[in-house]
Amino acid sequence: MSSLTLQNLTKIYPNKYTSVKNITLEIADGEIVVLHGPSGCGKSTILRMIGGLEDITSGEIYLGNDLLNDIPPCDRPLAMAFQNYALYPHLNVYENMALGLRLRNMPKSIIDSRVKSTSAFLGFGKLLDKKIRFISETDKQKVALGRAIVCTPKIILVDEDFAHGNAHLRKDLLKYIRKINHTYHTTILYATRNADEAAYLGGRLVVLNDGEVSEIISPIHTVAEK
Ligand code: ADP
Ligand code: MG
Repeated sequence: MSSLTLQNLTKIYPNKYTSVKNITLEIADGEIVVLHGPSGCGKSTILRMIGGLEDITSGEIYLGNDLLNDIPPCDRPLAMAFQNYALYPHLNVYENMALGLRLRNMPKSIIDSRVKSTSAFLGFGKLLDKKIRFISETDKQKVALGRAIVCTPKIILVDEDFAHGNAHLRKDLLKYIRKINHTYHTTILYATRNADEAAYLGGRLVVLNDGEVSEIISPIHTVAEK
């Protein structure tokens, strides 16, 4: 039971610009929600506040009954796939994937099975012993996504700048996001200005305009999909 609730969420930047205006939204456990709207409408700001990378000016964010506002980013049970995915170039793929789990003092055997199953799931199981600096940009982005999901977060936040400019990988990414949601019942919050991506993901569409919710569109399920 861990729905994510945004309650009157507002962000005013230090230059007095209000980029998110009093947004209230409840996202159910296991739901896919797409934040959709033109550049500058506040999508990234919302994700960054949920992730704890940006201070909240006013309002609350709850996960279940827990107030997330004052919980440091690293202690929030969520993963972020944003543009700056900062892998460690001198470590290999396995070590990069395992790092977060080691920091949580997980037993070696569990780390090993999680790293192997996640990398196989995302299709880079053969790269585990390769140093990051020797793998392709596309593979780096897959590893970044793998590192995000290997900790079995309750929620994954994906911003549109992740894998930006790599159309092929973005298609894969969308496919994986759906698969992750389906397989692990992970809640997905996905920000995009691209209507095709929003439609493909098929979740609830929250249309933003100038920092406000202008419309919420529920997915239409055909009988065949159910
Ligand atoms: P989106 O992700 O939808 O493109 P953002 O959340 O990045 O939108 O930005 C929303 C608005 O807030 C934009 O007008 C942007 O210029 C402004 N903004 C973003 N970051 C800052 C900042 N650090 N200081 C001031 N304004 C900002
Ligand atoms: Mg953005």
